Amino acid sequence: MDIKKIDGEYVAGTYARFPLEIVSGKGSLVYDENGKEYIDLGTGIAVNTFGVSDDEWVAAVTEQLAKCQHTSNLFYSAPCALLAKTLCERTGMKRVFFSNSGAEANETAIKVARKYAAEKKGSEYSTIITLKNSFHGRTITTLAATGQDIFHKDFLPLTAGFVHAEPDDIASVEALVKEYKVAAIMFELVQGEGGVHALSPEFVKGLVKIAEENDILLVCDEVQTGNGRTGELYAFMNYGFTPDIASTAKGLGGGLPIGACMLGEKVKDTLTPGSHGSTFGGNPIAAAGANNILSRIDEKLLAEVREKSNYIFTELSGAVGVKSVSGLGLMIGIETEKDASEVIAKCRENGVLVIKAKHKVRLLPALNIPMQELQKAVAVIKAACAE
Ligand SMILES: *Cc1c(COP(=O)(O)O)cnc(C)c1O
Repeated sequence: MDIKKIDGEYVAGTYARFPLEIVSGKGSLVYDENGKEYIDLGTGIAVNTFGVSDDEWVAAVTEQLAKCQHTSNLFYSAPCALLAKTLCERTGMKRVFFSNSGAEANETAIKVARKYAAEKKGSEYSTIITLKNSFHGRTITTLAATGQDIFHKDFLPLTAGFVHAEPDDIASVEALVKEYKVAAIMFELVQGEGGVHALSPEFVKGLVKIAEENDILLVCDEVQTGNGRTGELYAFMNYGFTPDIASTAKGLGGGLPIGACMLGEKVKDTLTPGSHGSTFGGNPIAAAGANNILSRIDEKLLAEVREKSNYIFTELSGAVGVKSVSGLGLMIGIETEKDASEVIAKCRENGVLVIKAKHKVRLLPALNIPMQELQKAVAVIKAACAE
């Protein structure tokens, strides 16, 4: 069977796929249709937190699968309740709404921010400030939040009420706060799809101050940065503040679809019965997987993430053919002298899977990638950049 041909004919043409089929894997090693082995530094876009078919995660998921695969939210379910408890205890947030994807977690954040502002300040306070170069999802509303015109064209009109400030330019945020009646400021602490750009700590401090002074909610989109990726459990911990709302998804489930919108003290009771919902949200299997993932993202693992991050930054900064290295933790962007796609293809040829973010090569390795495999992969990347 020619899977590439069948896919090309029958699957909606939204993806420019790499020319290989991933058939199986173990940890950070994956295998294509010809049995060729790769070290995977893409992890399904920061999803496979502990790599492919991780034994502990598989056991947690299959145990739940054999018990009950779905209940609907008309009933109580232990994996979901316990996951919410863990997320709150480890973040200082107060309640969690579960969905199935990052976009939906952000939709929840936007609904909560608007409802809170309407009740507290008046329904005219509906504007949400996001940043240029951001990415918040593909639904019509999260596209409106996304501060990149290239994603907007062909889909207008988008949901009204979003304005975009310049990242790392606090004056541009202040100007929008003066001009509009603002409910919330929503941002990724490390802009992922926008080119792996970590916001400056001064800018983030400025956002916290503006939010405090104007009773504006701070919403962190931690869909990609969350769940240990940045060397802390959530990236807001790298920056030393707690947002009012934090959304996450990708790595939380370790490979199963789950999204979470965490609600802080101010907004913990904003959602009321009937105001929001999801058929699959909090699904027991996805939640069981997430509980396993979170239980293993401990101080020891986070220290290892930071160590591996330092290793990559040290190896690649100033290497031949490398213009710059950006990011935080194991969310890394490499600006290369050669075209990023060429470097990515060269790496693939030589058994290393890396992905792209804008014009950069992006690395999102599994948090537990063995040091030996990481060293091997970095050597391949360096060679591909230097060629
Ligand atoms: C991937 C991503 C999303 C969208 O998540 P989906 O699960 O694809 O809906 C939203 N925000 C950020 C920062 C992301 O990286």
